[in-house]
Amino acid sequence: MAQQHTFEHWQSLAASLKPEGRAYINGRYVDAVGGDTFDTVSPIDNRVLARVASCQEADVNVAVDAARDSFNRGVWSELPPAKRKAVLLKWAELIEANADELALLETLDMGKPIGDSRSVDVNATVRALSWTAEAVDKLYDEIAPTPHDQLGMITREPVGVVAAIVPWNFPMIMAAWKFAPALAMGNSFILKPSEKSPLTALRLAQLATEAGIPDGVFNVLPGFGHTAGKALALHMDVDTLAFTGSTAIAKQLMIYAGESNMKRVWTEAGGKSANIVFADADLDAAAAGAAAGICFNAGEVCTAGSRLLVEDSVADEFMEKVRALVAKWRPGHPLDPNTNVGAIVDNAQMERVLDFIQIGQKEGANMTVGGQQVMPVEGGLFVEPTVFENVNNDMTIAREEIFGPVLSVIRFSDEDDALKIANDSIYGLAAGLWTNNLSRAHRVARKLRAGSVWVNEYDLGDMTAPFGGYKQSGNGRDKSLHAFDKYSEIKATWFKL
Ligand code: NAD
Repeated sequence: MAQQHTFEHWQSLAASLKPEGRAYINGRYVDAVGGDTFDTVSPIDNRVLARVASCQEADVNVAVDAARDSFNRGVWSELPPAKRKAVLLKWAELIEANADELALLETLDMGKPIGDSRSVDVNATVRALSWTAEAVDKLYDEIAPTPHDQLGMITREPVGVVAAIVPWNFPMIMAAWKFAPALAMGNSFILKPSEKSPLTALRLAQLATEAGIPDGVFNVLPGFGHTAGKALALHMDVDTLAFTGSTAIAKQLMIYAGESNMKRVWTEAGGKSANIVFADADLDAAAAGAAAGICFNAGEVCTAGSRLLVEDSVADEFMEKVRALVAKWRPGHPLDPNTNVGAIVDNAQMERVLDFIQIGQKEGANMTVGGQQVMPVEGGLFVEPTVFENVNNDMTIAREEIFGPVLSVIRFSDEDDALKIANDSIYGLAAGLWTNNLSRAHRVARKLRAGSVWVNEYDLGDMTAPFGGYKQSGNGRDKSLHAFDKYSEIKATWFKL
């Protein structure tokens, strides 16, 4: 466990790592067809970690052919579910056995604290695989209530070739939420990790083969969105495209699908989630939830509680608590197990966050905590958690997803006012509410237009419950048995008896 390793131990492990940067197609590492590469750089200290294959359309074609061929041969798609389960469980075991290395790759590549990589990212990846694997040999199909002289079988079948395009904030987890159910259903899979965080995906691929996933069934194509990503989205032989990332790119992928083969497109997109604190709440618990809701993972969380809605009558007292707690989330060296705020993923993202901080000030919000770039590690990209008060819901920092540690605090007068503000967003990914009034909790939870609602906590989650968005936060659901809907076609087969 991360907590058992010292800072020095993680540093020496990091120094000995030799990350793999080649693509993984048909069960082996390969260079990009055209030989193109890009450097993946650590935001911790600007060090080049690996030279990574920059996959293009030609590589996409090779990977899709390998995936289609493996699917058609039935080496995975036609295995009994219990066999697929056994292989996926083995893969989960291997991930657990290589947890330190994977955690380290994640931290070095995208800057999050090692304690989080080890206890959150690796563990959630293992759980996604093992929970889904355990489920797949317990799913039954259906028989339709037909007239007596007919039989109507309703069966789920794998869709075929599934491609997934994922972001950099939880690289392994976002991928696992997709490959676990897709593979469990019997599909062949192509993963395009973010160009900002390709390293763990490439290591996972090797472990997949070691676990017994047949060649061609799990492929990883590192590369950029406008090259590898676009070619996957436009490919005529990709049946389903599963995406996590920004709303703008999600919309573009739906266009690509329309321009090509009408592949199914499932999107988990952006958010600007409201975290509502009523005067009757446990204010200490709510303040801790509000601080963690924007500081965890440096605010690079799609469900970040980035709009904190506070009832007028307790706002002064409550915000004192929030300010004090946010100040305890301090950027530090991501390999130090005591660090709770890591580096921002890259320079472009850091500049974006700093720009929003400037816009907040220009539009008249009151910056009461943070706001500065800091450098706990020479050459690193770090921003202090920042709190803006006196925000109104029309300001840019209340409307746009910042994807950084920037909290916008908005006051409200009563329940209706809170709901009106909370739902006044193009997004609908998540929401929190804090109250000790049971009826209010149910009433407000029902009226919040969001895919996840937390009462008296922020950001609970597990494989047992679905995850996804309303409105422009996306469609479909990851996790839980609902996730299988994305990766299966439903067939009705009729018999006349
Ligand atoms: P992004 O949309 O910029 O990129 C996501 C992925 O799409 C990357 O792999 C990228 O290479 C690829 N891509 C970019 N342009 C493309 C194109 N034209 N064609 C095909 N692929 C393309 O998002 P990001 O900056 O990596 O991640 C941050 C965003 O992800 C935020 O908006 C965040 O809310 C969202 N996110 C959502 C969830 C969720 O479950 N709803 C979870 C995590 C992150």
